[in-house]
Amino acid sequence: MSKKLTAEELAKKFPRKPLTITAIRKKYPWVVPNSLQGKGNERSVDIKCTIKGCAKTRRVRTMDIFQVKLCDEHQKEQNQALTNKRRKRWRERDRERRRAMREGED
Ligand SMILES: [Zn+2]
Repeated sequence: MSKKLTAEELAKKFPRKPLTITAIRKKYPWVVPNSLQGKGNERSVDIKCTIKGCAKTRRVRTMDIFQVKLCDEHQKEQNQALTNKRRKRWRERDRERRRAMREGED
């Protein structure tokens, strides 16, 4: 019969290697060198916005690095663009539906 491993035993079996800034930057080049701060889950780094010509940086938790590549401003812009795109698609579909309904009435 196998017994469940305690958290301690698990940690021993699967040691978590803390990521170094070099390892992080290899994977996520938009991370600013020497910007790693904090400990454990509270670790954070600076990222440099990946938009060309933008030099803004932003502090993010290391666990969010993979999904954050833009400064606040450009992130907002991108979100707005996505919303507009969705709205436009919705309007087009709505127009189609109305047209189909009108044609059905004839
Ligand atoms: Zn930016």
